[in-house]
Amino acid sequence: MFWDQASETLARPTLEHLQIKLLQETLHRVRERVPFYRQRLAELNLQPADIRTLAEVRRLPFTTSDDLRAIYPDGLLAVDRAEAVRLHTSSGTTGKPKAIFFSRADVDNAAELIARSLVSAGITAADVFQNMMSYGLFTGGLVMHYGAEKVGCLVIPAGPGTSERQLMLMQDFRTTAVHILPSYALYFASYLEQKGLRPRQDLTVRKAFVGAEPHTEETRRRIEQIFGCDVYNSYGLTEMNGPGVACECEYKAGMHLWEDNFLLEIINPVTNEPLPDGQTGELVLTTLRREAMPILRYRTRDITSVVPEPCRCGRTHRRLARFVGRADDMLIIRGVNIFPQQVERVLMSFPQVGRNYLIIVEGLDDLTIKVELTPAAFDGQLEHLEALQQQIIEKLRAEIWIRPKVDLVPAGSLPVGEGKAKRVVDKRSL
Ligand code: AMP
Ligand code: ZN
Repeated sequence: MFWDQASETLARPTLEHLQIKLLQETLHRVRERVPFYRQRLAELNLQPADIRTLAEVRRLPFTTSDDLRAIYPDGLLAVDRAEAVRLHTSSGTTGKPKAIFFSRADVDNAAELIARSLVSAGITAADVFQNMMSYGLFTGGLVMHYGAEKVGCLVIPAGPGTSERQLMLMQDFRTTAVHILPSYALYFASYLEQKGLRPRQDLTVRKAFVGAEPHTEETRRRIEQIFGCDVYNSYGLTEMNGPGVACECEYKAGMHLWEDNFLLEIINPVTNEPLPDGQTGELVLTTLRREAMPILRYRTRDITSVVPEPCRCGRTHRRLARFVGRADDMLIIRGVNIFPQQVERVLMSFPQVGRNYLIIVEGLDDLTIKVELTPAAFDGQLEHLEALQQQIIEKLRAEIWIRPKVDLVPAGSLPVGEGKAKRVVDKRSL
């Protein structure tokens, strides 16, 4: 199923030609209207017409999240303030956030991309879509909402609310699709378990869009098993509208990135050299149709690769592989690089492991992993727990090359916040 078949299946040469045309328009726009970019282009002695091929894109300047903080609140605006109709900010934890403005056309376009994404995963106007992401400055609420409305779904703006309320809405309105944080999906599953509910039988959810935070294939499989639904990975970031940047189609094998809206590069984050499809590096994105706030070569700090093969669904827009993690989340412990997702992959392969875990680094690079077990795994037999603990330690050591300390703790004993999950406490930097 397609929302906009013509755009989604453009022949590659046509798509690339379109990208160059849109990029040049974007460059003209920022050069005329955004002093920040006018100056950067002047420093590099670059004219919009100099960028005639995609290979020449690497001559353009990068934009970093520090740049966005430095120009806060509105230094990158390319329209009059009166033409901006919406503001979102990114979920920064410290200091000033990054503020992103939308014009009327930007709002409509963001909804259009969500509609493409949802329909590619099989959502129709007949679906009841419960959006369990936060409504407010975070894009996961409103941006997703308008896209699902555009498809014609009955949209329930549930927001993050309590599990009790989510369940009530799901049952009373017979929710068929949800938009949910993967960490919250696992937490919600344990809530249902405690209530004695069986999600497969007692709920009608058939599709779940999970994203906004890194998660593993093992976590996807778990959510699918528990709820008896198809789970689609969905990627976005505030700087690029929020959700709707890339989403999996029915084949669930990588996320189609809408290349007629975003120019995609993968680079080596240290040397800044471009990397070919299939190689893992930092995702760099340029907006191609943004009116209010175009952004050139944004360093996402997200680590992924492009799936080299075309997709069976017929969409020509390339797919991003599941994210390895954020460059900023990478831990360096005793000289070894570790992503929290490597730990998660190992943990979720044990059926005895519950829904939550926490990675703690302290002292001189001491690594402790607190792991919640399922209630059934605590069977009162100490030798069983000790054996399990050893198995987990060994499997982790094989994956991350470091032997961590592993604490097995009962379900529900680790902290759960309202927003994105916090998986790492690095006491070394405190
Ligand atoms: P925000 O701008 O607050 O919505 O945060 C965006 C960030 O969330 C991205 O830059 C990624 O680091 C992360 N993120 C969003 N979706 C995914 C996903 N599907 N997989 C991994 N990380 C994601
Ligand atoms: Zn596909």
